[in-house]
Amino acid sequence: MSEGILREGRCLCGEVRISTRALGGEISACYCDNCLRWSGSVQMGIEVPRDAVTVTGPVKTHRSSHLAERAWCDTCGSALWFAYVEGPDAGYFEIAPGLFKNAGDARLTHIVYSDREPTGWHMGGDLDRMPEKYYQKNFPFLSEGDTP
Ligand SMILES: [Zn+2]
Ligand SMILES: [Zn+2]
Repeated sequence: MSEGILREGRCLCGEVRISTRALGGEISACYCDNCLRWSGSVQMGIEVPRDAVTVTGPVKTHRSSHLAERAWCDTCGSALWFAYVEGPDAGYFEIAPGLFKNAGDARLTHIVYSDREPTGWHMGGDLDRMPEKYYQKNFPFLSEGDTP
C-alpha cells in the first residue's frame, strides 16, 4: 500500500482514536432514510479501506439493514462510520469526515439518494447527484426500495 499522509481522528470524548494513511479525498453525502435518521441530518463519509484503518476505543456497531452497519463511540455517541457488510464495497468504511481536522482535507463531491433530499434544505454547488434509481443501478446488489 502506498504511504499516504497520516490522518488521525477522534470522537467527541476522545476515547475512540482512528488513524490511517489511506483516507480518500472525496466526501459523499447520503439522503437515504436510514442515513437521515441515524445522523439526524446528513450522513457524510470518506471512503477508506477497512484494512488500512487502526481503531482503538469503545466502538459499537448497529446492523442498520441486511446490507450495512453503522458504528459509534459507546461513550459519547459520535458517529464513526457507515460500512456495507456485503457487495463490492464491503472492504471499505465510509468514515465520518468530522472526526478529522478539516475533514481530512477531503472535499464534498457527491450526494446519493439525492432525490430524497428534504425540501427544507439544499446543498448547492457543483455536486454529482445520484438519485435512488441511478445509485441502485450501479450497485446491483441493492434491490428496489432497499435502503442501506
Ligand atoms: Zn467518544
Ligand atoms: Zn444512506
